[in-house]
Amino acid sequence: MTINNNLELIHEEIEALLKNLGREKEPFTLIAVSKTVDCDKIQKAIDWGITDIGENKVQELVRKEKEIGNAVRYHMIGALQSNKVKDVIEKAFLIHSLDRNSLLKEIEKRGKQREQIVDCLIEINLGEEESKAGIYLENLEEFIEKIESCSFIRIKGLMTIAPYCEDTEDVRPIFRKMKEIFDELSERELDNFDMEYLSMGMSHDFKVAIEEGSNMVRIGTSIFGERDYSKN
Ligand SMILES: *Cc1c(COP(=O)(O)O)cnc(C)c1O
Repeated sequence: MTINNNLELIHEEIEALLKNLGREKEPFTLIAVSKTVDCDKIQKAIDWGITDIGENKVQELVRKEKEIGNAVRYHMIGALQSNKVKDVIEKAFLIHSLDRNSLLKEIEKRGKQREQIVDCLIEINLGEEESKAGIYLENLEEFIEKIESCSFIRIKGLMTIAPYCEDTEDVRPIFRKMKEIFDELSERELDNFDMEYLSMGMSHDFKVAIEEGSNMVRIGTSIFGERDYSKN
């Protein structure tokens, strides 16, 4: 399968789903996750019409932005180390992985230096898998208070990575809970919050995620094929 065919199929699938849900007029973002993928392949996706690119490593994001340019938006979707914040905030349209105080502090500091409001999603770990990034729900309120005291951070929504399950029905409750939290935060008048994106759904579970309210999916393998980590 070519990248074009893959994108065509995914696009049709998403369109049909949104239509069924009566959401065809609502904003929706398909992020092509291009970690380990070469720039010529990414360019093919862009030529098809992809406007949003997702990377999980700062160095790779910065290198690709340099080569491909800023006609597309770059999303930092991977775990972010505090010492990499300064390199990524000028390139990334959105940081999906805000999940702890130390990172919040660093983004606030670097945003202040650049006089730039940095758009972030709070990454939530509902599966409570210790190996996964994301803040636990029980710590969210305290984190929100810290965010409200910042001046250079704007929360644009929420992100989650669901645990891998053979049967995607098993993760439906997680996506549903995420949507509940998203709606609840949207209704509260929180400083520095402008809830717009619910980033959830990957190659194997994006359909269930969309059905449960995702308006931003991050798809890699189904677009570019299996990743080859040996080159990196
Ligand atoms: C790699 C990655 C994806 C894409 O996963 P696929 O299964 O290849 O679609 C999505 N989100 C995050 C955070 C990732 O690291």
